[in-house]
Amino acid sequence: MKLAPAPRRTALTALVAAGALVLSACGASAPSQEGSSASDGLRVVASTTVYSSLVSEVLGGRGEVEALISSSGQDPHSYEASARDKLKLSKASLVVLNGGGYDAFAEQVVDSLEQRPPVLEAFEGEGHSHDHAEEADAEAASTAADDHADHDHADHGHADESHAETEAAAAETADADHAEHDHGNEHVWYDLHLMKDFAGRIGEELSAIDPDGAAGYRERAAALQSTLGGLEERVEALQTVAKGRGYLMTEPVAQSLLEDAGLTNKTPDGLAEAIEEGDEISPLALKRAQDALRFGSVTVLAYNEQTTDEQTTLIKATAEQAGVHVLSVSETPGADEDYLTWMGSTIDALEGALK
Ligand SMILES: [Zn+2]
Repeated sequence: MKLAPAPRRTALTALVAAGALVLSACGASAPSQEGSSASDGLRVVASTTVYSSLVSEVLGGRGEVEALISSSGQDPHSYEASARDKLKLSKASLVVLNGGGYDAFAEQVVDSLEQRPPVLEAFEGEGHSHDHAEEADAEAASTAADDHADHDHADHGHADESHAETEAAAAETADADHAEHDHGNEHVWYDLHLMKDFAGRIGEELSAIDPDGAAGYRERAAALQSTLGGLEERVEALQTVAKGRGYLMTEPVAQSLLEDAGLTNKTPDGLAEAIEEGDEISPLALKRAQDALRFGSVTVLAYNEQTTDEQTTLIKATAEQAGVHVLSVSETPGADEDYLTWMGSTIDALEGALK
């Protein structure tokens, strides 16, 4: 089977170059520039384009990144790994996942591999229970995680200070977000604090795998973190105008973002869960949702474009009739978007709705 190059990669690289966001003195260009032959073959496999996009920002030209799910027509929740996906995962230098059970299809494959590649997960919350300590890597044995939170990096046996700090910060933030956002919500790419930490973790992980490129990885990761920080500030700046206003969501997808913007959740009990599970919405929940949109203090309806049916369409129509702003949210960026552009336009739309 021939491995086609990631179709999105070209577009992403072009975008990155155009944005000059991560171009630095270290050079995001030729893999040979920093003179490592190991890096020539660096292959990162991500579960969705959210993560391939983030990795691509940090990777620069030192390897390739590909997403297993690259079409917004595919729902990651119900996705099953193909033979082709398995082959890609088996050849990966690094696997980057959402975690929290969201992309379990990839975790299962990785866990079944004899040579298990290192895995980096954005969210290490509930639903994530398997043991990463059984690594093939000899180094792993000594450093391998006694602690769940350490598992990603355990297989490199490097524990320099900045690394440890990043880990600690990530763990702390994840905990804070748990409390703040009441996570069981695995859609963590809408949690910009968490993504900012994750960008740092990507930089550290790539540096561990390919030390010759470390300076560049860290520099690009820092640039990405600063861009994400800018987005984070825009969201937090909305808190004043969002005060006392509510949102309703058809699925618990962008919840973190909406709450960071200061909006209050007015979604009737059971509604978002029913939609996400593909269950019928109860007539009572549907009526409450419609009432909240018509007569309530709801300013924004967060509408998952990737999971729609008759009932969600009805909710959307009710919002439109009631003059409630419909904010499109989804599992993955659109076909020609990278993560940053996508988040940027979502925040544009949110700003527009709260004007
Ligand atoms: Zn979802």
